[in-house]
Amino acid sequence: MLYQNFQNISLSSLGFGGMRLPVVDGDDGQIDEEKAKALIDSAIYEGINYFDTAWGYHKGQSEIFMGKALTAYPRDSYFLASKFPGYDTANFPKVQAIFEKQLEKCQTPYFDFYLFHNVNESNIDFYLNPKYGVRDYLVEQQRLGKIHHLGFSTHAELPTIRRFLEAYGDDMEFMQIQLNWIDWTFQQAKEKVALAKAYGLPVWVMEPLRGGKLADLSDDAMAQLEALRPGVSAAEWGFRFLQTVPGVQMILSGMSTIGQLGENCHIFAKSAPLNQEEWDTLQKIAKAMISKEEVPCTACHYCVEHCPQGLDIPKLIALYNEQHFTGGGFIVPTRLKTLGAGHLPCDCIGCRSCEKVCPQNIKIADVMKQFNAELLANDRAKI
Ligand code: SF4
Ligand code: SF4
Repeated sequence: MLYQNFQNISLSSLGFGGMRLPVVDGDDGQIDEEKAKALIDSAIYEGINYFDTAWGYHKGQSEIFMGKALTAYPRDSYFLASKFPGYDTANFPKVQAIFEKQLEKCQTPYFDFYLFHNVNESNIDFYLNPKYGVRDYLVEQQRLGKIHHLGFSTHAELPTIRRFLEAYGDDMEFMQIQLNWIDWTFQQAKEKVALAKAYGLPVWVMEPLRGGKLADLSDDAMAQLEALRPGVSAAEWGFRFLQTVPGVQMILSGMSTIGQLGENCHIFAKSAPLNQEEWDTLQKIAKAMISKEEVPCTACHYCVEHCPQGLDIPKLIALYNEQHFTGGGFIVPTRLKTLGAGHLPCDCIGCRSCEKVCPQNIKIADVMKQFNAELLANDRAKI
């Protein structure tokens, strides 16, 4: 197992994510404890020493399970991370009660790492509002030794992350983002890594394989990669890409089986960053994968002032692309919520006045209609 130094502690480069533990009968709230415990034991045996959980994972059961499973090991032999559940704004007035409950659930007197969870466009005002005192409370817990290192996780757009860092950058010690070879450009991960660097923050990676999508590539993509490094799996390419990005310290993987754990640990036995040709090939494949599913909006904004409904058309198209590429997830509903009622795909009246000025000849009204139909199918058309 590879290790990297973080403030004089040695962290395994691969972290165990506690959000995809094996479950019983497909019920996310019912962890298969026997199988999950075997995973934790194997992870420790393989040298993983970073374990990541959160209030909401597995309907609240992940923290309880992780706490129980890890008590078999000396408390100073591993690092435990959890997070304040700010993705639900109803939690903001309850930071103390939630934090104390988390310590109890995890059977620990302290968290090695603690994060502001999922800082995004719809909760940043809550995070920054002194009325709720989340930052002050957590900084005080750090002073009391109940938190060793503070950080934050985010899927937000750059301006929101910048705003958070302008306010709390001095308190943060690491930044956890969605980073993989698709999101390098698709979700502006490249710029987010640069922002972390500007604040002197190491990067913690989530979704290294985009929920498994990057572990299963087309034959054509694999043939191109095979010509460069024979016998390397798609998953390994994903991790080798991350080993190439300067500033990446921790790569979290939600491992559900002993097989996945074994493969990941084998990959993390060594560092083998990509050379320029390999990097460029991966980016070329990424571009092809994205463009296959993407509406080619360049965000020129010409259409916006022609929309009688005042829709932020380029933003909605970007979300449509995200929805299509990801096939679900929570980025789309979170950002739609920020846009607010009256500004959603369902508010398009199909007048097509926007299309007359679109240099890309995008059938915008059709995109809105399709987007709305997909949101309706997922019960997400309204906010
Ligand atoms: S078709 Fe829809 S998005 Fe385009 S201008 Fe009309 S209302 Fe706005
Ligand atoms: S005019 Fe076309 S390309 Fe420009 S922002 Fe609108 S939809 Fe996108």
